[in-house]
Amino acid sequence: MTETTDQASTGQDSDQAQTWRDDFSRVLSPVFGSPQLDLVRGEGSYVWDAAGKQYLDLLAGIAVNALGHCHPTWVQAITEQASTLGHISNFFTSPAQIGLAEKLHDVLHLPAGSAVFFSNSGTEANEAAFKMARRAGGGGRPFIIAIEGAFHGRTMGALALTAKEAYREPFAPGVPGVVHVPYGDVDALEAAINENTAAVFIEPVQGEVGVRTHPAGYLTAVRELTTKVGALMILDEVQSGIGRTGSWFAHQDPEIGEGVVPDIITSAKGLGGGMPIGATITVGDANTKLLEAGQHGTTFGGNPLSCAAGLAVLETIEKDNLLDHVTETSEWLKTQLAKIDGIGEITGKGLLLGLELTGGASGDSATGAADAQVPDSKAVAARALEAGFIINPVAPGRVRLAPPLTITTDELTPFIEALPGLITG
Ligand SMILES: *Cc1c(COP(=O)(O)O)cnc(C)c1O
Repeated sequence: MTETTDQASTGQDSDQAQTWRDDFSRVLSPVFGSPQLDLVRGEGSYVWDAAGKQYLDLLAGIAVNALGHCHPTWVQAITEQASTLGHISNFFTSPAQIGLAEKLHDVLHLPAGSAVFFSNSGTEANEAAFKMARRAGGGGRPFIIAIEGAFHGRTMGALALTAKEAYREPFAPGVPGVVHVPYGDVDALEAAINENTAAVFIEPVQGEVGVRTHPAGYLTAVRELTTKVGALMILDEVQSGIGRTGSWFAHQDPEIGEGVVPDIITSAKGLGGGMPIGATITVGDANTKLLEAGQHGTTFGGNPLSCAAGLAVLETIEKDNLLDHVTETSEWLKTQLAKIDGIGEITGKGLLLGLELTGGASGDSATGAADAQVPDSKAVAARALEAGFIINPVAPGRVRLAPPLTITTDELTPFIEALPGLITG
């Protein structure tokens, strides 16, 4: 087989996988590395590659495919909307846009004055919140606090809020004014926050660092301290919202949110169930103090097509009682996972779970889990893929599961059975 970068070579005679890998690297950006699969079809909790192999999707497009793949209600909503009215610009509104905003008000029990701004992604939802933070208290508050381990997106504003140095450093100078405080440390937050602080950005469940909630009392302290100095509390629910943890939004779960009411909530990922959409939601009079007409905008944000998809997602979660389904499925899943040698701490909630890999009892006694070599999460994910399971090696020694909210225990059973072997190799 001849390997060539010659554009005239179609690669017809090379094997199928090598062909699409070559095609990919010839025409697409290398920022994501080499893709793992060439996927052609999805249905419910499964996707299929070009060779016809089936995979159980335990990542759901990174917590996006809330209803699974190609849910009939979602497909119908998009098809009908696309054939009726697809895009109109924000000089105009549409029933789908108003309908989705109303539904968000509804599930969040938003007080009068609250308002939704639609965009197209999580990072954009946070960009809008960042601009609102710059206007907090009428402007003139130069500092924003974010938390170590935080991920808020990749555009310049959201990137400044993201904790990981390696993501920010190549693009210095970044947007100024962001201070990162240590995770879970109320004293450090208290020392950092003052009248120059515009906002504290925080994920109720940190996803990208390996799925973790905050220590008891931390979100309450964030709310108290922000209120005391007149700063905004901005909850990034891009990953944790839309039923993921068994509540509409994670902070509505008393165990996670401790009853706090934020000033701003950002949403995306699961909101469109696979159509791109983001939302920045101001709570109560936070809205009237922040962006005025003309201070922000978007061409695509809030288009009828994405909003129709979002409305179908929220209505299906409600109609099919998926919040309870998530909680019940999660309880079963966690019970099964806890029995597996080689899995330590299970973090997160609902169907957003982080699994600590401890190495199991391979080559050791039954008591030796902690002493066994910790398996590389990337190697575990690669073996899982080979066996037909899509999981995410979110951090070294940690795997993230974020399957469709619709997944069943029957669908999960083969994964539970295979997992011990996938961990030990
Ligand atoms: C994924 C994610 C983002 C960024 O969303 P994009 O749609 O990729 O821009 C922001 N915040 C959190 C918590 C996320 O998980």
